[in-house]
Amino acid sequence: MDSPSEHGWEDLCRRCGECCFEKWVDDHGDIHPTAIPCRFLDIITRECKVYHKRLEVGEGCVKLTPQVVEVVQWLPENCAYRRRVHGSDG
Ligand code: SF4
Repeated sequence: MDSPSEHGWEDLCRRCGECCFEKWVDDHGDIHPTAIPCRFLDIITRECKVYHKRLEVGEGCVKLTPQVVEVVQWLPENCAYRRRVHGSDG
């Protein structure tokens, strides 16, 4: 069962779905989003169609914990988790 703090963390997500699009890395190591969504993203609602088993379906989905958000480079600048962890809220 999730703890209350885990619920609070999950509630931060704006369900924008921007993290669920393919990205590519250029020769300089910069990450660029594409218009290609994960096959499990509902592009109308922007919700994952397999959210509760997203880590098991083989698409490389990563559970976004504070520790993960601290180090990954591919979350969009306006991601609520990124803004919380990197102190750019508000
Ligand atoms: S980019 Fe951030 S706020 Fe948007 S859906 Fe992904 S985790 Fe949630």
